[in-house]
Amino acid sequence: MDRQETAETQLYASTMLRHTPAGIALFDAQDFRLLRANAYFQRILDANNDPHWQNGQTTGHQFFDWLPASTAHKFLSIFRHVATTGEPYRRGEHVFFNAPHIPSYWTWNLAALRAKNGHIAYLLLNASNVTRHVVARQKAEATHAALDSSNRLLEADRRRLTIVETVARSVRELLDIEHISKITIKNLVTHIEPRSVYIHTADAVERRMNLLHAFLINDDQQVVQSIQTVPYDGPTILSHMYKQRDLFIIENAQDKSVQENLTSYNPLSALGVHGYICAPLWYHDRFEGTLTTSFFHDIQRDGEEVQALAGCVPHISAALAHARLHTEVVNERERLRITLDQLPEGVLIVAASDRTIKYANQVTAHLMGRSLDNLLGSPFNTNTDNQPLPHTRGQKQHATSWVHLIELALQGEIMSSEESIIEQPDGSNVTCLSSCAPLRAEHGAIDGAMIVFQDITRLKSTEQQKAEFLSIASHELRTPITAMLGFAEILQMRVKQGASLDDVSQRALRHITEQSEQLTRLIEEMLDVTRIENAGLHLNSAYHNLVETLSNVIESQSITSKKHSIIFLKKDLQQPDILIAYYDEKRLIQIMSNLLSNSIKYSPQKSKIEVGLQHIHEQPEIALIWVKDQGIGIPPAELAHIFERFYRADNMDRSISGLGLGLYLVKELVTLHGGHIRVESQEGQGSTFYVVLPLDKKVE
Ligand code: ADP
Repeated sequence: MDRQETAETQLYASTMLRHTPAGIALFDAQDFRLLRANAYFQRILDANNDPHWQNGQTTGHQFFDWLPASTAHKFLSIFRHVATTGEPYRRGEHVFFNAPHIPSYWTWNLAALRAKNGHIAYLLLNASNVTRHVVARQKAEATHAALDSSNRLLEADRRRLTIVETVARSVRELLDIEHISKITIKNLVTHIEPRSVYIHTADAVERRMNLLHAFLINDDQQVVQSIQTVPYDGPTILSHMYKQRDLFIIENAQDKSVQENLTSYNPLSALGVHGYICAPLWYHDRFEGTLTTSFFHDIQRDGEEVQALAGCVPHISAALAHARLHTEVVNERERLRITLDQLPEGVLIVAASDRTIKYANQVTAHLMGRSLDNLLGSPFNTNTDNQPLPHTRGQKQHATSWVHLIELALQGEIMSSEESIIEQPDGSNVTCLSSCAPLRAEHGAIDGAMIVFQDITRLKSTEQQKAEFLSIASHELRTPITAMLGFAEILQMRVKQGASLDDVSQRALRHITEQSEQLTRLIEEMLDVTRIENAGLHLNSAYHNLVETLSNVIESQSITSKKHSIIFLKKDLQQPDILIAYYDEKRLIQIMSNLLSNSIKYSPQKSKIEVGLQHIHEQPEIALIWVKDQGIGIPPAELAHIFERFYRADNMDRSISGLGLGLYLVKELVTLHGGHIRVESQEGQGSTFYVVLPLDKKVE
């Protein structure tokens, strides 16, 4: 290489050094003077040195002159080592603050340069700013770390969700607590590695918890045995869970301070337990049990174990509540069924949807003459071609088919103590007193009907026999009485025609006639009652003059009772002596005679009795008739009963003859005429009976 070539090379070299993005400096290996430095190195020095040493002033000076003493001290040993051993020194990435809080990162190295004779003559320092790399790397690292932690969180979340989702799904699919608790335990075991998992169900009545399922990593049967039943307020943590809503968490049961703080009896540390979580299972306001887990590792309050457990809690609580309610409903149904089965009455339930018999007890089966098996599930209206009888409330009627009552109940009617007929397969009939009602679903729609039967066949036949007896007896009694009356009348006629009979005999004769007439009336009443009971009383109505009929009754009653003055008051009649109405004259006379004879019977002699007839303008379709006396009156408490069969008020003299049938018959007869009767009375002052009678024939 010639001289010119060398000069050129040196020029290139110094150009390269000037532009290299690294600081390069050459030091004397003996005294560590800075011999030369490139521009980049100069800039580093200028940025960090006193103004005094800036702009190349350091060249020719030993570095410990211009470096701060503390730094210079570290450099000195490095320089010495490289200068004496020739081993290069490499300083890896390190932080360097050239302005407060703004770090820059550097690497530098120091190499020994030997002279031709092999001695170390120079030291070459090479410093590179790696801040950009470092910052980029730091960012990458931070991003990575963040990703990593969020991945871990996501993973924990995913695992928690897997557990919760599986448990939730199983709850949705099948609210069977056995199934759900097994799935819960299996999931917790797979995902959060517990040492143990237990589920207890609460028994609020016995005040204890019963173990439903347990998992133990080492299958320690002794421990399982010890937690089979846990009484409330016992010595363990579990015992107190019914008082708290929050999860009970122990992060590390081996920690001495934790052990000291646990007031309850605590076998956890002895069992080698670290983490422990006990979740009380609440469903609304009801404590249903607990879910407990323990771990061989420490746990954290916000750790995945706690979160996984907390996620399962609502589902298991719901499942436990459902299981409990289900058992309660089943038990309740069972109790009800047993009660119905044992009832002495027949009970039958029909479903509205398919109109089949859903329930019948043995009594019903017996009444229907069918077996229970044959009855259950069969349509309720088979075996009977009976057209249901028209049913109108409030009217006396024949017994109707039970099927008809069910039909009415399915339409929403409630009926009690209705006479109904059950037709047995052999054609015989059973008479029942039945009550029937619709069964409604929660939203109010009718989804069935229930009927209760009480067999009254025997009662009915006794009643029938009684009626028959009464009817026969009345007929048989009537004949001799008619004969007696006839003979008495003959005698009376002969007296009138001049036959001699002393006073006593004449009085006796009058008595015989009166008493026989009274007896005839009583017998007639009894016969009428039997007719009404058997729906055998029919009216023989026609148009008559009501004024005339009433006048006749008053007249004949006045003849019998001369001790009362009976007056006839007519009001608002268009013609004073005529009011035409449609009625059975014989029966109207019976009505009026009854009312009048009562007034006579129950009021003092010489008192006034008023019979009234009014044709009110505003109500031209009716006649209002009344019988008013000034007698003993009727006690208010008895007013409601006096139209009942055989009812006699308490305030009267029992020696006054009567069966308590008169007013019952009056009411039935008035009703048959399409009218109605009511009474107003004040004890000690008198009574007024009002009869409302329709004037015209009822249009059917
Ligand atoms: P009885 O045969 O007893 O008269 P009723 O059926 O005719 O039977 O009457 C029932 C009861 O009503 C009577 O026993 C009596 O207590 C009461 N009663 C009926 N009419 C009157 C009246 N005008 N004044 C007071 N009490 C009456």
